[in-house]
Parts: sequence; C-alpha cells; structure tokens
Amino acid sequence: MREYKLYIDGKFVDSRSGRVDDTLNPFDGSVVARFAVASREDVNAAVSAARKAFDSGVWPGMPAADRAAYMKKIGDRINEKAAQLVELEVLDSGSTLKKAREDIFLTARAFNIFSRLAAGENEREMTDISKPGFARNYLRYEPVGVVGAIIPWNFPLKMAAWKLGPALAAGCTVVLKPSELTPVTAMELAKIIDEVGLPAGVVNIVPGYGPDAGEALVRHPGVDKIAFTGSTAVGKKIMELAANDFKRLTLECGGKSANIVLDDADMDLAIDGSLYGMFYHSGQCCEAATRLLVHEKVYDGFVSALVEKAKRMKLGDPMDESTDIGPLISKKQESRVFGYIESGRKDGFKVALGGGATCLPELSKGNFVEPTIFLDVDNRSKIAQEEIFGPVLVVSRFSSDEEAVRLANDVVYGLAAGVWSKDIVRARKIAEKLKAGTVWINEWHLLNERAPFGGYKQSGVGREFGRIGLEEYMEIKHIHVDDGVPRQKRSWYDTVVSKGEEGSKQ
Ligand code: NAD
Repeated sequence: MREYKLYIDGKFVDSRSGRVDDTLNPFDGSVVARFAVASREDVNAAVSAARKAFDSGVWPGMPAADRAAYMKKIGDRINEKAAQLVELEVLDSGSTLKKAREDIFLTARAFNIFSRLAAGENEREMTDISKPGFARNYLRYEPVGVVGAIIPWNFPLKMAAWKLGPALAAGCTVVLKPSELTPVTAMELAKIIDEVGLPAGVVNIVPGYGPDAGEALVRHPGVDKIAFTGSTAVGKKIMELAANDFKRLTLECGGKSANIVLDDADMDLAIDGSLYGMFYHSGQCCEAATRLLVHEKVYDGFVSALVEKAKRMKLGDPMDESTDIGPLISKKQESRVFGYIESGRKDGFKVALGGGATCLPELSKGNFVEPTIFLDVDNRSKIAQEEIFGPVLVVSRFSSDEEAVRLANDVVYGLAAGVWSKDIVRARKIAEKLKAGTVWINEWHLLNERAPFGGYKQSGVGREFGRIGLEEYMEIKHIHVDDGVPRQKRSWYDTVVSKGEEGSKQ
C-alpha cells in the first residue's frame, strides 16, 4: 500500500493528530493510498516553517536566476517521472489517460514558464513621471509573503503547479493544501521538491479537510495571501474569513459557461467542439461548456447531430486508451449530479440522451453518470443556472445575437464562454459583450500559462497566469527619490517652511 506523510519544513512527518485516511480510486472504489491528514496544529507548523523561510530571506532574497533554476529542475524532474505521475493521477482522480498525460505535461511546462518569470525584472522606473533634476519614481514588485494555496480535486497536480509556479517565481513561500480527495500526486510533488533540494520551509504540502486544515490556513495570521481554487460557495466563505486581517486573495471559482452556436457556424466543427467543451473530464471542469445556446435556424439539425455523436462517446475505465468519459470523483458527487438530473426531469425538460447511471456491469463499482443532454431548457431553471459539475449539458435556443448575449450573461457566473461562427467580425462583436474572463471563438478549453485566466462576477477574484497572474503574488511599492530640488522650490515650502521662517522672524 502506498503511504504518504505530510511535508513540513523539509521533512516528511506524521500528522500531529495521528489521523490517516484512504484515498479511493473513482473507477472501482479500491484504495489507492493511505495519507496523513493535516490537523490545525500541522497547518500551524507548516505556516511557521513557511514564515521562517520567507522572513529569513532564504527564498525571497535568493538571486532570481537561482530561484528560476530550482523551478526549472522541478519541471524537468516532473517530465522524467511523467509515466508514474500519469498513472497515479488516473488512479487517484479518475482522469482518463489522455487527460492525465496532458495534465502532467502542462504541470512541468508551468514550472518552466514560471521559472522564466522568476528571472524577470521586478523593479521598473516610471519613465512617464520621473523627471531628472526633480525626482525619480520607481515601482518595486515585492513578494507578498507566505501564501496559503488551497486547490480542488479535478486537476490535482496541474492546480498545484498553477499555484506554486507564480508564488515561487514571485519569491513567496507556500503552504499548499491539496484536496482531501486527491492528495497522491501533490505528495509525489513534495518528493520531487525535496529531491531538488529546495530550502526547507519554502514549500510545505499538507492535505486535509476544508473546514479543518483549510480554514486553519485561511484564519492563520502568519499567512499573507490565500490563493484558492474551488467552488463559489467555499470561495465566499474564504472571502469572509480573509476579511479579518485583509489577507490578499485570489479566488478561482465555479462556472456555468455559455457556448453560443451561430447560424453560420461550421456545424461539424461546432459539434465536436461543443462535445469536447462539455464532456472533457466528465464535465468536471470549471470552464466546461455547460450551457449550449443554438440559433433557432439551425437548432433542430444541430442538436440531433450532436446527440448522435454524443452516443458514440465511450464511458469506461480511465486507464483504457479508448475511454472518452471516466468516472466522477466520488459517490457524493455522483448523487449530487443525479439530483440535478432529477430536477431537470421534474421541470419537464426533454432528456435527449442519458439521464441515469450506466448499466454496464464492469463499471458498477465506480462513480459513473451517463452523458446526459437536456433540450429546450429555460435559462432561468435550476439546471441552467447552477453549476452541476458532471456530464450534464443543457441546450436552449435563441433567435438573435442580442438574445444570445442576454442569455449567456444571465447567470451569476462569468468564467468562460464561446462563440462558433465563420464570421469572425460577428463572433468578436458577441465576444466583446460577454461577461466572462475567457472567450473562445471556434475553440474550447485552451488555456495558456502566459494569458490571464479568471472569472467575472461570482466566478472569481483576480487572475492567474502570465505577468498579470504573477503580480497577484506581489505587493507593489512606489518609491519616490528626490533628485536634489532646492528647498525653496519644493511644493510644500510656502505652507510649511516659509511660515516657520516668518514666525521665527517675528
Ligand atoms: P471545494 O470548494 O469543495 O473545495 C476546494 C478546496 O477547498 C479543497 O481543497 C477543500 O478541502 C477546500 N475547502 C473546503 N471547504 C473549505 C473551507 N471552509 N475553508 C477552506 N478550505 C476549504 O471544490 P471542489 O469540489 O474540490 O472542486 C470543484 C469546484 O472547483 C467547482 O466549483 C469548480 O468550478 C471549481 N474549480 C474552479 C476552477 C477555476 O479555475 N475557476 C478550476 C477548477 C475547479
């Protein structure tokens, strides 16, 4: 049996409470590994270690090129261990082989890309206001301090990299809390971090439960910033807790993204893209294309072709190369998704595909929900408004571009959206009106560590990736340097000094 300890201050240690838990394979419920569960005391120890590594300057004070070299080594080591990490990611998270391969590749790439940002320039002269002979003005981008990073289960290792990458590049130290449902690859990452010799305390990894270890991290006065990815409900709670001491905050939360198919779209492309947008990782993606809006002129033909193609997607063992759709993460998530399917049925919407558990005997032990498609769904209904986080697509029709935009924006979320059209000018006009942090035109799911990603409205606060994402891990300081302006020429001379001089003359 694989066993994992907590990683605190450069050591692998048991939980102070002695608690251990098993993590289960979503495909068949078998035990993947036993892991130490972090308690509040463990979180306190991890924060102390991160605080020491930050305040001593061991990481923020290290030359940027040296920090970059450590990060690159982590990325390289992930590539070397890719086959093992892929297998563990499939077992622990139910990701298909194809997804897990992409995830591990992108995890290594994220460390490499962020290592280049680490080596970048973090002091800039403000040339537009600096005036030689008067003043020089600089901006310094300084690491925010100790980061508490809290991540979900849907992309376990990739999410870890998307937090650690910018935090380490900025010069921060980190306490990472992986999801209690998928701790395995994060703990393998701890081994890699240990192997490359990152100074003790710079990265601490403590899987544990949200209300316990997660909240302890958010409440801890030694943490300067919380970087959270997860549900909107937990994001709100974290926002409230972080208000107490004004912790810096980035929140990457839920979505209910609208996917708009115009009447002039390339229909084959739009069908394939819509299925990929919706059913990738069984719909367990924050940016999934969960609301399909189709122009009424093409609705009937488009929808029947989409349903026919969806029938060919293979539900199965994620370890099997031919599987398109794997299991959901847990029995709890499975029953949550069934609850939404029930709600759609009760509201009277037509089920064009799926709508139940699979009857394949070989999948009976896993958390499987059939790919499900509801037609002619009212956009105000529960299944159109709430994030389901499973393989459930809701389809609605529209009759004009204005109506498509109105429907697309009529949710509390604003993470992503998409438009399918051969007329790029028309598609761009729509894209500009959509309240979403990322809009794809004739594509879906493509994210890039160099381009900012994040949500409008209740999908989040702040952005990840690229220079903009890096700056979320920094405080910006303005330094004004006097360049030798004579005393009498200072703006305050009349109000302060001259009055004093007049006063002393009297
Ligand atoms: P979740 O909110 O239940 O949990 C996310 C993390 O928060 C876990 O590590 C969990 O242990 C922790 N947590 C739970 N309660 C907490 C608390 N009270 N205090 C502190 N931490 C707490 O989400 P999930 O079910 O793991 O993941 C699915 C959600 O994540 C979906 O809503 C999805 O849209 C969202 N997500 C968003 C993005 C994005 O980039 N916007 C990416 C992936 C997933």
